[in-house]
Amino acid sequence: MTFYWGNNRRFNSWSTYAQNKFGNRLQKISVNAGFSCPNRDGNISYGGCSYCNNEAFSPLYCSKTNTSITEQLNEGIHYTKKRYKKVDKFIAYFQTYSNTYAPIEILKEKYKEALSHPEIIGISIGTRPDCINDENIALLQELKKNHIIFLELGIESCHNKSLKRINRGHTFEQTKKAVEILSSKDIHITGHLILGLPGETREETLKQAGIISKLPINSLKLHQLQIVKGTKIAEEYLKNPKDFNLFELDEFIDFVISFLERLSPEIFIERLCGDVPPRYNLGISWGNLKYDQILSKIENRMEEMRTYQGRLFNPSQ
Ligand code: SF4
Repeated sequence: MTFYWGNNRRFNSWSTYAQNKFGNRLQKISVNAGFSCPNRDGNISYGGCSYCNNEAFSPLYCSKTNTSITEQLNEGIHYTKKRYKKVDKFIAYFQTYSNTYAPIEILKEKYKEALSHPEIIGISIGTRPDCINDENIALLQELKKNHIIFLELGIESCHNKSLKRINRGHTFEQTKKAVEILSSKDIHITGHLILGLPGETREETLKQAGIISKLPINSLKLHQLQIVKGTKIAEEYLKNPKDFNLFELDEFIDFVISFLERLSPEIFIERLCGDVPPRYNLGISWGNLKYDQILSKIENRMEEMRTYQGRLFNPSQ
């Protein structure tokens, strides 16, 4: 069966789209450009988001000090080529902290260093909704003339009570504004969302599929809440685990399928769950399965259920 997005996968997979558009598998290579974050340096707060431990989410080579972007890309590309034989197209992923939060000359220098690498065909920039401004949008538009540019935006939740609970330091209204501006400038937006935040019922978490579908975003990365060592949320969890409703693997598979069913079929799916290294995980273990193994389970379950992304999507709701 061929679905709305033109192939037989049961969700609108970003990697399948990218493979068709750019040829072979397109792989993002994480880099740490040494940026900061306004939610950590005191501009918004000193505490940071309560779940944040950048070390846990970044490859080891990104944590070395004094390593240039070029050196990190060399190392990341070398490792990726060994792991995935068919990969030959690479995007530099500015992943660590807030990668539009610096004077414009610094941003220009860092992005251009990545783009000048002979094996890099574009950049993906991770940032916060409140770190988008006219100046950095103009820079992205300029770079977009000759390169692939993606902007990854930490939405994390559509519910202000949850954003407050995790100390994000911005509201969902700010997210909507940033998304509208970026979209009006034709910049590809990948939203990030955390499923299962404390204080949210499953119904409230699920309702976000409809809310997200109304935003003019292009792609989505979903993560289940993971309790990462060294974070504020880990302290809260250890003090009061009953306050949390973490997903067991089987429950998550069914939940994320329900989410996909309610999501617009037009949104590309870049990721369906997080896979923090087991040594950092303080919450529920999913048996140390790798991302691709969990993805297969989700796709097999969708096959069994004969369901697909957008099956219950209602554009008028
Ligand atoms: S998650 Fe992102 S925005 Fe939040 S504290 Fe960490 S780097 Fe800053």
